[in-house]
Amino acid sequence: MQDRILVSACLMGQAVRYDGQAKPLLHPAIERWRAEGRLVTICPEMSAGMQVPRPPAEIANGATGKDVLAGTARVVELTGADVTEEFLRAAENAVALARQTGCRYALLIDGSPSCGSGFIYDGTFSGRRQTGNGVTAAALKAAGVEVFSDREIERLIDRSAQ
Ligand code: SF4
Repeated sequence: MQDRILVSACLMGQAVRYDGQAKPLLHPAIERWRAEGRLVTICPEMSAGMQVPRPPAEIANGATGKDVLAGTARVVELTGADVTEEFLRAAENAVALARQTGCRYALLIDGSPSCGSGFIYDGTFSGRRQTGNGVTAAALKAAGVEVFSDREIERLIDRSAQ
């Protein structure tokens, strides 16, 4: 069995994003990996019981997923509701699934406070980006899973072929 890849559900066309949309990544490699049975799909936030649609959330005060895991930062919705516990549970679920299914890699959509790995938003809900991981991406990396953003699929193709 070739190495499995954990993949964001919204990248696979599932309408699970906060705004009720999907963000499908159309690429021949996705079809190939799917046919090979290598893809393990999860929406971490939905696995933690969050609803669709839901208010947008960002990691507060310019912090990152690593800070949330360390207990020094919070995840807050636009409404002001604190959803840190849900985001931590989401990350735990993703790590547990990656372990159970033998995922060595993860392909996650960028920009999300859960799945982002190249950038996230800065907590001001003003569209300002900053470098950093979301909570799930940070937890997967800490667990030894190699995380690639949707923009890095070519790099994952090379890596997983080695
Ligand atoms: Fe997509 Fe991840 Fe957000 Fe779920 S948690 S909607 S998989 S970006």
